[in-house]
Amino acid sequence: MRLANLDGRAVMLTSDATGFDVHTASDGAFGPGLPEIYADWAAFTAWAATATASGDVAIDRSRLGSPSPRPSQVFAIGLNYSDHAAESGFERPDELPPVFTKWQSSITGPDTTVALPPGGDTDWEVELVVVIGARAHRLAAGTGWDAVAGLAVGQDLSERVTQLRGPAPQFGLGKSFPGFAPIGPWLVTPDEVADRDDLELWATLDGDEVQRGRTRQLIYPVAKLVEGLSAVVTLQPGDVIFTGTPAGVGFARKPPRLIQPGEVLVSGIEGIGTITQRFVAG
Ligand code: ZN
Repeated sequence: MRLANLDGRAVMLTSDATGFDVHTASDGAFGPGLPEIYADWAAFTAWAATATASGDVAIDRSRLGSPSPRPSQVFAIGLNYSDHAAESGFERPDELPPVFTKWQSSITGPDTTVALPPGGDTDWEVELVVVIGARAHRLAAGTGWDAVAGLAVGQDLSERVTQLRGPAPQFGLGKSFPGFAPIGPWLVTPDEVADRDDLELWATLDGDEVQRGRTRQLIYPVAKLVEGLSAVVTLQPGDVIFTGTPAGVGFARKPPRLIQPGEVLVSGIEGIGTITQRFVAG
């Protein structure tokens, strides 16, 4: 199942270009938005398994919002691919990798224009995004996927000057400028992809491939991340996890490459889709 956020309303896709409105098709039982659906995810998926399309809604990508537009919590994971930890000059983490946040105001839909912060060094990080579909605390080992509603493509855009200056890194601030957390193009349930633990992800900047990896390379794969986070916090329906980025980010290159005004960043994940960011001077 694929669910899009079209102008704030949940639309179940019947193709990349068409779908139907969940609230209308369910006679008001579910929705109208995706946040209401995550809060009632088990009942919704039971209904969705038997739902029939009740008329076509055209999917205009310019009207798509984030599949989780206002999560109560956003978790972002650092150094979760060995090759990226190495290029960043860190050891491969043995425990739960570093966890930080991207504040909710940085979240957008999939296809956007992003203003580059003045005087900053803005960088890219393609990531698999997980959306939580159940309240979860202290999940047992091996049950992490049970708390997941679905997957999306995310960009953990990062302004490295703000992120790294001062006596201790400012990950939350450096990664939360407006538009720095695009997510989309829609939510894809894990049963929809060929192998939920082995998805190829990539990014191109102005046509140059800058990142390519597979989620089987995650040091902490999705289930372990969800379980590890739930050991401390109570996960809530609609919560978002940026799961980490593979090698190929700009600041680790020699010489470094930073996003320039006018450049276009396309990020994709196998079986999910792509998101596109155009950059302008801020
Ligand atoms: Zn990241």
